[in-house]
Amino acid sequence: MRAVTYVNHNTVEVLEKPVPEIGSDEVLLRVGGAGVCHSDLAIIALGDENPLIGGTLGHEVAGTIAELGSEVAGWSVGDHAIVSLILSCGQCRECLAGRDNQCEVVYPRGALAPLSPGIGSPGGMADYIAVKARHLDPLGELDPVSAAPLADAALTPMHAINTVRDRLTGDATVVTIGLGGLGHLALQILAATTGARVIALDTDPEKLAFAAAHGADLVLQSDGGAADRILRETGGKGADVVFDFVGVQPTVDLAVAVVRGGGAIRFVGLGGGSFPYAAGTATPLPWGVSIERAYGGTRADMRQVIALAEAEKIAVEVVRYDLADAVQAFDDLHHGRVAGRAVLVP
Ligand SMILES: [Zn+2]
Ligand SMILES: [Zn+2]
Repeated sequence: MRAVTYVNHNTVEVLEKPVPEIGSDEVLLRVGGAGVCHSDLAIIALGDENPLIGGTLGHEVAGTIAELGSEVAGWSVGDHAIVSLILSCGQCRECLAGRDNQCEVVYPRGALAPLSPGIGSPGGMADYIAVKARHLDPLGELDPVSAAPLADAALTPMHAINTVRDRLTGDATVVTIGLGGLGHLALQILAATTGARVIALDTDPEKLAFAAAHGADLVLQSDGGAADRILRETGGKGADVVFDFVGVQPTVDLAVAVVRGGGAIRFVGLGGGSFPYAAGTATPLPWGVSIERAYGGTRADMRQVIALAEAEKIAVEVVRYDLADAVQAFDDLHHGRVAGRAVLVP
């Protein structure tokens, strides 16, 4: 079968690999779609000596069950399913507490990230993937191509939003920065599940037009004037919650500049920006602000995402690429030419 492989620094190739054998608790999924994420670009930039070299990429995976292991119950050949982002153990303290995105078995201290398809385990940018049945959720009538990005591009915003849901009241203002793969779904989730006023920012006028048509109450160009405008819009107080789906220096600066005292920031984008934090007064952060380095999401978050998609309250803007054109898709994402989410279709 074909498999999009991290072959060396900043290089992927579509290679031939054997169709995986399945264990008794696994299914063979014929991949319907596999999303291409900015974190895939981050992974292949890890150098020429990385242990992930040689691995098949793809952590947003959905498809159709082609074969069942001998002990698998509750699934049939032909069912549509989505693969969990995090291949959690289901048994450790964190999993049992509902924090399976922090599973201590598949995310030991010091690890780069929790074990995921395409991040330490063979990914879904391939014709087939073998996956334990307990790491699947049913997709019902949803199309696996447009549903695949739900596994991360919708799950991760849903999780970040759920960590601050009590703050997103009808009189709250939320600022969401970046309307790419994750951000365009964050906006839809905020609009569908909260009463907060949503201010959406991006540098791309087309993405701002999308946001205006999909639930943003105010769209703003993400530039040097954005902070003052947001402060004016909130009577000088600032935003209750800021989501940064970019994480470059200007967006981190903006998040810190517009969060209100006692508010919250969730940094999700991996752009490498930073701000000075001091255990004292030498920090631009107002008192009382909650910050979390949000990662992925839980199985409970995933069920909420699927329910919203089934109810047509959220939808992925899919840009389809044939699996054979994976190198082009990576290049287009790298150069900011993807409006929505690139999905590789075998
Ligand atoms: Zn991702
Ligand atoms: Zn666990």
